[in-house]
Amino acid sequence: MSVEAEMRSDDLVQPFRIDPFALRGRLVRLGPTVDRILSQHDYPEPVAAILGEAIALAVTLAGALKYDGIFTLQTKSDGPVRLIVADVSTEGAVRGYAQYDSARLGERNLPPGQSPSVPELIGSGYIAFTVDQGEHTERYQGIVELAGGNLAECAQHYFRQSEQIQAGIKLSAARSGPDGAWRAGGLMLQRVPPEGGTRVIADDVEDGWRRAMVLMSSATPAELVDPELSPRRLLFRLFHDEGVRVFRTHSLEAKCRCSRERIERILRAFPAEDMEDMRKDPTISVTCEFCNTHYEFDSREFGPAGTA
Ligand SMILES: [Zn+2]
Repeated sequence: MSVEAEMRSDDLVQPFRIDPFALRGRLVRLGPTVDRILSQHDYPEPVAAILGEAIALAVTLAGALKYDGIFTLQTKSDGPVRLIVADVSTEGAVRGYAQYDSARLGERNLPPGQSPSVPELIGSGYIAFTVDQGEHTERYQGIVELAGGNLAECAQHYFRQSEQIQAGIKLSAARSGPDGAWRAGGLMLQRVPPEGGTRVIADDVEDGWRRAMVLMSSATPAELVDPELSPRRLLFRLFHDEGVRVFRTHSLEAKCRCSRERIERILRAFPAEDMEDMRKDPTISVTCEFCNTHYEFDSREFGPAGTA
């Protein structure tokens, strides 16, 4: 392994395989990327933690798919955190935000070393996964009721309900390291469908799957976000006896897709009566929910239809 590969241990997806047991997986490590996304908003700690896990989940799941476009995870629910959106592009641009009700959230503290509770924070609702590959292509959407104590369990429920794949997932988000910056991590293992012509001994594969799941669950939430523990070292620590092989990493960065031009296009698509309302103020202000960037437009730019 090159020195460079060993040194970069943040903001990446590390794919791996355990060939003897026909398993593949990904370890996701988010450092400055998730810290930047969470710091762009002044989220209460439990909201930041659950959004951090949702971002790690989106990146972990996106890595399992072959697509060219945007993968989006969204929850909509009746709890104090009523909406979470996290998306990741094929190029590795990541963003996310949460909508919450501070009054209902109250003075909640997070039990250290534990994943934030879905029933307490998110409540009842659904989680949806969408792949958008641009205009003129069909959007793929998977949707399932939120069922599980934390987001990783909800994802596993989704696999059982709507996919034919068997997969296990672990997530963590916490302030970690000397600077107390946010970090997040995700680990996913999935069974590779047997390829034609490959003879696999069913019992061995079954045992291997169970053993790998036990080993995966032995990874602690602290290890998933430990800045001192490189992704490769963590994988070898967990699976070296099973013959884990690591592949080239993909890098990730916090990057929003909003722009002045994009917001202007959205404004121009508003119905005339809504535009009429907005023009009552000399300035039209728009804040991007993802990155909190503030845009201001002179409302005269948006004259009555036909005059602009
Ligand atoms: Zn933005």
